[in-house]
Amino acid sequence: MRPITIITGGSRGIGAATALWLARAGHDLALCYRGNRSSAEEVADQVTSHGGRCVLVRADVSQESDVDRLFDETAEQLGPVTGLVNNAGLTAHVGDLADTPVEVIRQVIDVNFLGTVLCSRRAAQVMSTRRGGPGGAIVNVSSGAATLGAAHEYVHYAGAKAAVDAFTAGLAKELAQDGVRVNAVAPGLVRTDIHAGAGVPERLETAVSRVPMGRAGEPEDIAPAIGWLLGPESAYTSGAVLRVAGGL
Ligand code: NAP
Repeated sequence: MRPITIITGGSRGIGAATALWLARAGHDLALCYRGNRSSAEEVADQVTSHGGRCVLVRADVSQESDVDRLFDETAEQLGPVTGLVNNAGLTAHVGDLADTPVEVIRQVIDVNFLGTVLCSRRAAQVMSTRRGGPGGAIVNVSSGAATLGAAHEYVHYAGAKAAVDAFTAGLAKELAQDGVRVNAVAPGLVRTDIHAGAGVPERLETAVSRVPMGRAGEPEDIAPAIGWLLGPESAYTSGAVLRVAGGL
């Protein structure tokens, strides 16, 4: 049986690299994206060139009805879901909290934390063996910011990612006897569009001096950690937060 895995934010960056890693490992994939259809189609073409099936679903992970549709369409087109990568996220804005608009704070918490909770809730419903599902694994994409705090950049984002870590610990315990493992990966500074999306495309260059290894990570540095936590080799690992941050 091929694993059937949903990746939120699968159209770009870490999610896209994870999609290619999982395609090579034999997964069929549902890629959720928010608006960038053409980028999602490029990733889907690469996934299918590795022999995997791939469906694209436009969904905002912070909206319950979109999350329901994401899971329903995936099950209809691919079969029972066995994996979820909660990767969709954004920083949106860089600055001190006192200068950050409330609507930005709400969006950052909604996408990074509430989106992870809503998608994991549906995954628990359909994957739990106690509820008749096939079992599986959830990997949440946290951030090194969860422990560093991201002062003068986005402390509310750091708080949302710390919430993801606590949620990972709790849900791992809740689902431990239901055939579902729950883990997180915490990347450091990674070369993706997230920085330009926050209005600071130069952040990679300005922040790299903080990274002990002296370089930014590539999305391909993060994908194998996510893939390992989803796969059978990590069968006894649940509740872990695996930092992949160049020593940060
Ligand atoms: P990215 O290149 O900006 O890609 C973000 C992805 O999330 C895109 O696929 C985007 O879809 C999707 N997305 C955004 N908002 C969404 C929503 N409301 N609903 C559904 N999808 C949504 O970002 P990235 O750097 O790869 O980040 C991936 C994850 O890694 C995030 O959780 C981020 O917080 C975390 N992270 C990143 C870094 C870093 O330095 N890059 C460091 C630590 C943690 P569209 O393409 O349709 O817009």
